[in-house]
Amino acid sequence: MPDPKDTLRIEQLREQLHDHNYRYYVLDAPTVSDEEYDRLLRELQELEERFPELATLDSPTQRVGAAPAPGFSAVKHREPMLSLANAFNDEEFWAWHQRVANLLETDSFDLICELKLDGLAVALVYEDGKLVQGATRGDGYRGEDVTQNLRTVRSIPLVLQGRDYPRRFEVRGEVYLPKEGFRKINEEREAEGLPLYVNPRNSAAGSLRQLDSRITSRRPLELCVYGVGWAEEGRFPDSQWDTLQQLAVMGFKVNTANHRYAQAGGVLDYYRKWLETREGLGYEADGVVIKVDRFDYQRHLGFVGREPRWAIAYKFPAERAMTRLLDIKINVGRTGALNPYAELETVFVGGANISHATLHNEDYIATKDLHVEDFVEIERAGEVIPQIVRSLPERRPAGGQECERCGSYFHATNHHPEAVTWTGRIPERCPVCNSDVVRLPGEAVNRCTNGACPAQLYEGVKHFVSRGAMDIEGMGEKLVRSLLDSGLIEDVAGIYSLTLENLLSLERMAEKSATNILVNIEASKSRPLSRVINGLGIPHVGSETAELVAAHFGGLERLSEATAEGLAGISGIGPIVAEAIATYFLQPANQEIIARLDQAGVTVEEERIERSLQETPLVGMTFVVTGRLEALSRSQAEGKIKSLGGSVTGSVSKKTTYLVAGEEPGSKLEKAQELNIPVLNERGFLDLMGGGG
Ligand code: NAD
Repeated sequence: MPDPKDTLRIEQLREQLHDHNYRYYVLDAPTVSDEEYDRLLRELQELEERFPELATLDSPTQRVGAAPAPGFSAVKHREPMLSLANAFNDEEFWAWHQRVANLLETDSFDLICELKLDGLAVALVYEDGKLVQGATRGDGYRGEDVTQNLRTVRSIPLVLQGRDYPRRFEVRGEVYLPKEGFRKINEEREAEGLPLYVNPRNSAAGSLRQLDSRITSRRPLELCVYGVGWAEEGRFPDSQWDTLQQLAVMGFKVNTANHRYAQAGGVLDYYRKWLETREGLGYEADGVVIKVDRFDYQRHLGFVGREPRWAIAYKFPAERAMTRLLDIKINVGRTGALNPYAELETVFVGGANISHATLHNEDYIATKDLHVEDFVEIERAGEVIPQIVRSLPERRPAGGQECERCGSYFHATNHHPEAVTWTGRIPERCPVCNSDVVRLPGEAVNRCTNGACPAQLYEGVKHFVSRGAMDIEGMGEKLVRSLLDSGLIEDVAGIYSLTLENLLSLERMAEKSATNILVNIEASKSRPLSRVINGLGIPHVGSETAELVAAHFGGLERLSEATAEGLAGISGIGPIVAEAIATYFLQPANQEIIARLDQAGVTVEEERIERSLQETPLVGMTFVVTGRLEALSRSQAEGKIKSLGGSVTGSVSKKTTYLVAGEEPGSKLEKAQELNIPVLNERGFLDLMGGGG
């Protein structure tokens, strides 16, 4: 019989896990590490095993992912897309192996080892060799239709090679972002003041689950396939290994690190080899997936709950370390958000020296029970941003009392160390300008209410001149700081009134650099409208949103008159962003800045692009057309590409999205193959253009 304590714990765990699932799968923004999530899930699994009478169908242990998000049409999976059971040590692997051997009544069966790529699962349906549908896993039974977005992923063949494939089938694989792409996206987001993606997986999911395919097309996503869901009119070989080989022949990207073993011991060697060398991979792998090779064995083994019995994911451990939380400090961001961060005793973990970790907001600090001087556990898994996993209350002095001033347990109330700045909570006044700080309803962060706060101004100007915005070379952090400190500029528009004398009045400013800076300021006036909009630093508006609104409105005046409702009607813009833009333009101070930018000759108007996004599905893609086409001439083909928003160049390079090759293609085809650029034949090209000529 469960006692009330267990029942309560089960309820707590379910509630917490539901909430984490929502943050992870729907918002693409988890607030706990995967390891912590796995620990909670395990605890729940164990409790439900002990008290089966308390198990329910809607428990997080029975479900994968989350239902399709609004905005996408739902796709029903013919065969459910399930999760994988985990092993965290050799013992658990051996226990799984033993269970399989018992059920198969033999211990002689081949195992396939595949690296577990950290992305999101998708299912692609091919009909007569052509991609007709692509969906996310969703809740395992119903996923989101992301066909248009998947078409922009270069490693997904739109048309299959050869002829040896079933007439209709579903292939499954992982869409992921290489480490480099993840780093770049986060750098851009940082420059734009947007929240960073926590890990490559959420970043890949966020990139694929965009309502606007143009955004997806700019993200360097990849797809690696690892299985088949179902097949009609034709079949695949009857083992995992042979199926993977055939998928490769058909033109799919299959991981070359996959390996087949006759002995279970080999699996452990494989695991250890990749545990040591995975740093060197261009993508994030969070473990090894081990599968029973023969499909008849797989069918015999079947499923339990949300997991197949014939496979297991042996996870790599995240890298962790203990250190001391020295202080909690506050950084005031461009939008006035008071961002708390942890100052840590430097510790070497996951291949880097870590001395800071973000703490997100006040609630996060409270939930984690973090107190200055606590011992804390830090985790850094691959590219993941360092996180504090937990504090270790057991290491606080026995009988210690919480300091009233800084919350520390490590010294008496009246011995608050001078150096510590934390006062146990987010300050009520801005640490930079001393203005009021508020927390708006529905927001997790506290914000400084002074739009002219020097910290906000500084971050705002830095952003305005940055590469993704007005790109004013020579205007580094130091110069921005001294221009503001000396009062030479008071806002971003002030940059355009700077004179040579102004600049020369600054310390250590030589005439040559001053002149260069003025030239660069002048050059920035003709940046495209989207860069100017991005540069304004409107909360929630980064370069992608800026491009959407610039294309839609064509001018700052029209944009400034738009209502939140009108803005939310634009595909790719949600209600929060719409509200933020409308609010920004209502402020008189912002209207004045825009008027001054206009007077200075900065681009505030641009030729309006009338076409809707649906009409330009090829934006961001670059094509090269070569050889003789049958249904249309080369120039017709090029015209078609351009009319759909794509661009055409004369030679194949790393930037080429597709080479369209007709008869007798010549050296461009060789070049494309050398660079691994996807090649479309005429049929594939017409299909991509929308099924017609
Ligand atoms: P999973 O990621 O542990 O394993 C299943 C998935 O592995 C498949 O759906 C597929 O996408 C992927 N995969 C990669 N390579 C594969 C291969 N070669 N063969 C087969 N599958 C392969 O399970 P899940 O259900 O997708 O997610 C659960 C995990 O997500 C948890 O273990 C947790 O780490 C994380 N999670 C974290 C939070 C959080 O708040 N931090 C919330 C929810 C889930």
